[in-house]
Parts: sequence; structure tokens; C-alpha cells
Amino acid sequence: MTSICENIQQIKSEIGKVELVVVSKYRSLEELHEVYACGHRIFGENRVQELVSKQEQLPADIQWHLIGHLQSNKVKYIASFVHLIHSVDSLKLLQKIDQEAAKHKRVIPFLFQMHIATEESKFGLDADELKAILRSEAYKVLKNVRCRGLMGMASFTDKQEQLHKEFGGLYKLYTGLKDEYDFDTLSMGMSGDYTVAVEKGSTTIRVGSKIFT
Ligand SMILES: *Cc1c(COP(=O)(O)O)cnc(C)c1O
Repeated sequence: MTSICENIQQIKSEIGKVELVVVSKYRSLEELHEVYACGHRIFGENRVQELVSKQEQLPADIQWHLIGHLQSNKVKYIASFVHLIHSVDSLKLLQKIDQEAAKHKRVIPFLFQMHIATEESKFGLDADELKAILRSEAYKVLKNVRCRGLMGMASFTDKQEQLHKEFGGLYKLYTGLKDEYDFDTLSMGMSGDYTVAVEKGSTTIRVGSKIFT
């Protein structure tokens, strides 16, 4: 059996300059301390309540990323400290984040979550919806949020061809907008598919189960 730290180091050696977000959802504080002791500082959670509770109990130099669906009425709990929100999928939510960020005199960085999987249930925008938001006046006036790029979750499949297609499509959309909108972050790749995601141009992977097993 390998330790949490060995797993992190193994993944980091595979991905080179790509950023690793250690997805710590459902994991105990003890396990998170192990990640921290390994020198890692970038953690991702998918639920607001758990994110806040862990942030309060762990060292202050951790960068906390929200990777799961965010409801407008919960933005206020994370606005003072969240490092990057990966999961923005509506203008309405973004307006709320902007408002809450302003109260803390912050600019909150975020990614638009894109729907790239074949499964129906996953959250996210399609390319036309994204472009409509980016070009809207209501978006352009927001001063306390800053879009760093895009996030996507591929279909839950082993089919390499399918993964190549989904990640490749997202990469193409990302590079097409990158210069105009000053993007630098493409968040794609999880335990089961990060190798393909990195091959396809991911800048940031979000890995949980492969580290903690
Ligand atoms: C849980 C989760 C991950 C990590 O998934 P693993 O398969 O455990 O690596 C990545 N991204 C999001 C949005 C998640 O909810």
C-alpha cells in the first residue's frame, strides 16, 4: 500500500507543470493533515458546508477551490476566502458572487463549467450559452469577479476515444477564447481520466479517489 503523500508525488511527477487540486471531499481532517504535511496546499471541495468547516479547522495558507455546484444563497459563506470557483454555470450566480465579493473588497476568480459529457444530469453550459454570457453587458459590468477559464467533466467511461473527443472539444473552445478573454486555466481531468485530459491540454486536474485509496 502506498501513502497519501506517495500518491500525490506520483501524480505530480506524471503531470509536470499541470496544477493538481487534491479533492478532499468526504475525507477526514486527519487525511487532510497528511496532504498538508506532504507540502500540498491546493484543496478542492464540492459542498459549501464541508468547505467552510474544513477551512476553519485547517492552516490558513491552504488554497480552497470549490469544484461542485454552487447555490446563490450559499455564496456568502465562502466569499471571504475561496481561491477559485470552478463551477459557475449561470449569469445569475455570477452576479451573486460579484455582490458578495464586493462586500469583502475582493475579486473572486472563477471558471465557467461547461457541459461536455453525454450524461444528462451534469451541470454546465454549452458553447453558445457561454458566448452569450461573455458578450452580454450584464457580464461586462461585473467588477468583483474574474474569469480565469473553463472547467468540464467528461463522461463516466473507459472509452478513450470518447474522452479524447470531449476533452479535445473543450480545449478547442478554451483556446478559441483564451486570448480575447485572458484565460489561463482549463480545469479538466479526474482520477479516472486525467492522463487523457493532460494530453489534451488541461492546465489543472482535480483528483480525489486515486490519492486516498
Ligand atoms: C469528486 C470530484 C472530482 C474528483 O473525482 P475523483 O474521481 O475522486 O478523482 C473532481 N471534480 C469534481 C467536480 C468532483 O465532484
